[in-house]
Amino acid sequence: MKHKSAKKTVLLSAFCLFTLILQPVITFAWGPTGHRIVAEIASRHLTKKAQKAVQKILGKESLAMCSNWADFIKSDPSYKYASVWHYFDLPENISTFEQARSIMRNDATANAYSVINKMIADLKNPNLSKDKKVFAMRFLVHLIADVHQPMHCGHADDEGGNKIKVKWFGKSTNLHSVWDSDLVEFQKLSYNEYASAIDHPTREQLQAWNSTNPAQWIWESYDLSNKIYKYAEKDKKYGYRYNYDFVDALNSRLLMGGIHLANVLNEIYK
Ligand SMILES: [Zn+2]
Repeated sequence: MKHKSAKKTVLLSAFCLFTLILQPVITFAWGPTGHRIVAEIASRHLTKKAQKAVQKILGKESLAMCSNWADFIKSDPSYKYASVWHYFDLPENISTFEQARSIMRNDATANAYSVINKMIADLKNPNLSKDKKVFAMRFLVHLIADVHQPMHCGHADDEGGNKIKVKWFGKSTNLHSVWDSDLVEFQKLSYNEYASAIDHPTREQLQAWNSTNPAQWIWESYDLSNKIYKYAEKDKKYGYRYNYDFVDALNSRLLMGGIHLANVLNEIYK
């Protein structure tokens, strides 16, 4: 009996070490749950026509289940070119939407902004092959969610908070990861439960969120990231109070991501 439990302890420590090694140092996206919440909310706001068109492309794969593919392929070196598509960092101290917009207009390099527009154009193209449409749909669903994660539109200097070390309930992490996963996972809801819990936009909100303009969403995220950075200047040990201060902002970005994604798909397939 004793021998068995000692063996168990050794196995358990080896497992812990293994999972520690697997912990990524730098992360670049909402975690899987965040992406599925956004996609699930979008699927609940599609027109019949858009629903059919999406299903024709994805087959039995739901929007929620296709939403993390763009992250999964990061382990395949042949997709390395796409790793810069997941974010749009801006310089510090941008004061207006127009300033941010001018940077986006002039930026010819591939980033979340330009790729979202490219994927929308691809999905509108009736001559595109089925494979390319699947690719475009999976990336569109993923990237629209990504640009609603405020730290995906943070400052370039600190890689959207990846370089800012913070504690989450005593665990060492970074500011970007807190927003990708820690805050979302803290709510202890499945993606379906989460979508049902927050998918209650008012009529006024739906009217205000009728945008299909990625520049606008990036600006909103950037604006929120500035509040997150300010907070981090004063406090880097997060727990219950951080959740209390930011959970509404988190839920609002997840919901807006879902509504905006639905708007875009409804517009493509109108
Ligand atoms: Zn991503």
